[in-house]
Amino acid sequence: METRISGHTRLFALIGSPVGHSGSPAMYNYSFARLGIDAAYLAFDIPVDKVGEGVAALKMLNVGGFNVTMPCKREVLNYVDEITPAAKLIGASNTVVITEEGKLVAYNTDGIGFVKNLQEHGVGVQGKKIVLLGAGGAATAIAVQTALDGAADLKIFNIKDEFYANAEDIAAKLSEAVPACHVEVDDLANAEALKTAIADADILVNATKMGMKPLDDDSLIHPEYLRPDLVVADTVYNPRETILIKEAQKAGCKAAIGGIGMLLWQGVAAFKLYTGQDMPYKEVEEKFF
Ligand code: NAD
Repeated sequence: METRISGHTRLFALIGSPVGHSGSPAMYNYSFARLGIDAAYLAFDIPVDKVGEGVAALKMLNVGGFNVTMPCKREVLNYVDEITPAAKLIGASNTVVITEEGKLVAYNTDGIGFVKNLQEHGVGVQGKKIVLLGAGGAATAIAVQTALDGAADLKIFNIKDEFYANAEDIAAKLSEAVPACHVEVDDLANAEALKTAIADADILVNATKMGMKPLDDDSLIHPEYLRPDLVVADTVYNPRETILIKEAQKAGCKAAIGGIGMLLWQGVAAFKLYTGQDMPYKEVEEKFF
């Protein structure tokens, strides 16, 4: 470390709260060292009401860019100069680049990471019919990115909780911004509609907290709804294999894709935005995932 950090070393950062559990510092610092990039990455615990001050401090310190995690992903948009169309539609950013001129540009690489993870498993979204379970942060990023990347049909199912209105909001925004993608919203409790939608879908995505610890002993999907020509993707990565993924494997689904790759690829995309270089993702995956 003492030979790597110099008077010129550029800082990159993670902001949010909590950040202590994050794997991002290890992933980025390893990649900087491996590629000989004179940069370092640190995590800063910043609560949502201090985002403005935090961003001003990072800017003043000439930081090259920073990742944003919960609960600051929406709030940070109030403190940047430019927002990409995807991040604007999602209404949140996980990656802010500070340009040489000092301009803050907000991106969202969560949906990009999801789509790239599917690609790595041989699955494209162009022209596909997708059933998406969930309407929170992860689901919104996936809805927007898959629509922008050419998905033909998106059926969003959510329980009637505080996220349901968000599902309707995403559908309204997408029907204006990406009219080629047909978007509908339904109640997850509507079992008949869910069954029919899955029977007609190419890809089923779980972007709810169901399956994630401590909700890891259940799945929202009856195993009978799964069939060999369906692709099943989960955003949950703890546990690595959710009940849904195990059921999909058992049903012989043509792909059963866990959430860990989405986490890796959103980081790879952010690294590219920060450095213009490709993260050594195979080594990063082996060492840290
Ligand atoms: P969020 O709090 O923004 O949204 C939670 C979603 O889960 C909502 O749609 C809510 O209605 C739904 N939900 C909660 N309890 C439920 C239940 N009992 N039954 C059905 N639906 C329920 O959370 P988020 O940040 O969008 O995270 C959602 C999931 O995505 C989590 O499991 C998280 O692990 C995963 N995630 C993965 C990545 C990745 O990189 N792989 C990134 C972000 C989130």
